[in-house]
Amino acid sequence: MNAAIRGRSRPIYMDHAATTPVRPEVVEAMLPCFSERYGNPSSVYALAREAQVTLEKARGQVADALGAATEEIYFTSGGTEADNWAIKGVAAANRKKGDHIITSSIEHHAVLHSCETLEKQGYRVTYLPVDEFGRVDPASVEEAITDQTILVSVMAANNEIGTIQPIKKIAEIAHDHGVPFHTDAVQAIGAIPIDVNEMGIDLLSLSAHKFGGPKGTGALYIRRKTRIAALMDGGAQERGKRAGTENVPGAVGLGKAIELAVAEMPEKVPRLAAMRDRLIRGILDSIPETRLNGHPTERLPNNVNVAFRYVEGESILLMLDALGIAASTGSACTSASLDPSHVLIACGLPAEHAHGSLRLTLGSQNTDDDVDYVLSVLPRVIERLRKMSPLSPEQYT
Ligand SMILES: *Cc1c(COP(=O)(O)O)cnc(C)c1O
Repeated sequence: MNAAIRGRSRPIYMDHAATTPVRPEVVEAMLPCFSERYGNPSSVYALAREAQVTLEKARGQVADALGAATEEIYFTSGGTEADNWAIKGVAAANRKKGDHIITSSIEHHAVLHSCETLEKQGYRVTYLPVDEFGRVDPASVEEAITDQTILVSVMAANNEIGTIQPIKKIAEIAHDHGVPFHTDAVQAIGAIPIDVNEMGIDLLSLSAHKFGGPKGTGALYIRRKTRIAALMDGGAQERGKRAGTENVPGAVGLGKAIELAVAEMPEKVPRLAAMRDRLIRGILDSIPETRLNGHPTERLPNNVNVAFRYVEGESILLMLDALGIAASTGSACTSASLDPSHVLIACGLPAEHAHGSLRLTLGSQNTDDDVDYVLSVLPRVIERLRKMSPLSPEQYT
């Protein structure tokens, strides 16, 4: 194992679901907005008008990537704000119409915790179950919907296990009942084709740092005529719906990053999917008592999530880190707590498996050599941990 580390000059980053490096083209597009083009888009002189034009160009790039109209894109401080706004904003604007929201049990915490806040305010929330692969059954949406339902929110693809949801079908069912449909597409942008009209999406959350853009910037797509309250009070920015001086460099970075991410999909998706499949096959073939989490085929092209019995995910991460590999057990947001992932539990994974999960998420910079290296060290890492584990049965001690 040591010989393998000595040969490595750079760490292997396989945690692209947590964040991605900002692309050089994106940095280059952003830089002038900090220095020469620093105007406040709300002011009246030439410098401000220039900032306004720059901002609207970025808005157009985001709209084009989604098949939306430019005026349907609202910049936010990221995916978390977009999710909070979609859920709390639609709930507040429709309080007289109804008090019921439908979501899934495997959403990101930005969605789940927003729904829990609403429950404390008297709204009712249905958290739909998922099957063993993490898929929501569209029929369960039909069963849950009532004349009090004001929003259906189901993520396009899961950040932990990579499962892609049948959102087009779910949106159709919501619309049959006159209910708007929101999707958290933070993990889906640049990975699966998204067209808000073709897929019947009324609200969509996205975040720049998940596809080569800067952190702290994202957007909410809001279909024309959707009833939604503002989350922030203040100035009249973002058509009076999202107050606060616009993050012009952030918006420009988002615009450039989404344009590149969508344009590169035809080349990138098959390349990442091939590495993903080699990792999955290699791990399952070389390490006993291991299972794949998530869906075998309806899966993000860059997501590998496997569960090893008798080991703790946290110890796997520490050993991989010592070998120069950056990975995750699931969601970056829950790794500080030792609770098993709510996503894996919802998929019905037994607790002894849920604790030993490992997520590897690939990006453009990963190579076949990276895959070979991970496949060469991982069996020994798991074997060593199993030897030390009090959870192991006889054969491993
Ligand atoms: C990362 C992520 C978010 C949060 O986005 P931020 O921009 O980091 O706030 C929300 N949903 C999903 C599915 C994510 O992966």
